Amino acid sequence: MTAAGPEALPMRVPANNLPAHVRIHEVGARDGLQNEKTVVPTEVKAEFIHRLADAGLTTVEATSFVHPAWVPQLADAEELFPLLRDVNAELPVLVPNSRGLDRALALGARRIAVFGSATETFASRNLNRTVDESLAMFEPVVARARQDRLHVRGYLSMCFGDPWEGAVPIRQVVRVAKALLDLGCDELSLGDTIGVATPGHAVALLTALNEAGVPTSAIGVHFHDTYGQALANTLAALQQGVTTVDASAGGLGGCPYAKSATGNLATEDLVWMLDGLGIETGVDLGRLTATSAWMAERLGRPSPSRTVRALSHKES
Ligand code: MG
Repeated sequence: MTAAGPEALPMRVPANNLPAHVRIHEVGARDGLQNEKTVVPTEVKAEFIHRLADAGLTTVEATSFVHPAWVPQLADAEELFPLLRDVNAELPVLVPNSRGLDRALALGARRIAVFGSATETFASRNLNRTVDESLAMFEPVVARARQDRLHVRGYLSMCFGDPWEGAVPIRQVVRVAKALLDLGCDELSLGDTIGVATPGHAVALLTALNEAGVPTSAIGVHFHDTYGQALANTLAALQQGVTTVDASAGGLGGCPYAKSATGNLATEDLVWMLDGLGIETGVDLGRLTATSAWMAERLGRPSPSRTVRALSHKES
């Protein structure tokens, strides 16, 4: 447990032009663990997801139905998902293709996510397809999921920079974003996969999407903290009306493309800011921090989250 006391929570001082409520899409168990070297036992993952939901997270992405050989860290999706029946949260799962959707449906998943790319190089390296070929691959997956009344999230990676191509033109991101929505995705997650975005860039992309007819309510933001910009970018996005923010408990996941320990925005760092702004998330920061400290022990390394470190030090 974290220490109680005046410093365990930020002072609550609301600011103007911000949403009253933010839905955190917790990605630690999927995006986080798939990028950790250590393969976590299935029971530990199940306990992790239970604890995340108990801390108040309402959307906990649980696992991925990619081919087990591609992502050995998540090869136990079939064993894990049935252990989550009593979790009190939405449990989206990543599905790469029709075969992945078959596996997810067989286990009763109600929310899926597909994983697209804004750039040709990443599409080629990650999906072995062009951007348009990957959209064609998603089309029957999204159509069938919609038929079964599943909620569909479309991840769009490399929205700001690409490690091989450099800066990514905004119009290119807008084109693929619109294409994913046209396929029938309910929600988009704009990924800054290498963490290079800055607030003006985030605002420019959100403005361009808005002008192209993409409703802000359908947009989630997925910032990485590789260069320390994730919270600044998130705040800029909130000021644009975004209310869905992706984050990873304890900052799990690192950045595989920058070989940095700091990748995904840590959920605790996000909650500290949102709590301070008086924005409701439903998350209990103390319980969440305790969960991430527990998981860091399982992984054998300290959490990169500043908030986890600050609050954990209080107890020692
Ligand atoms: Mg990520």
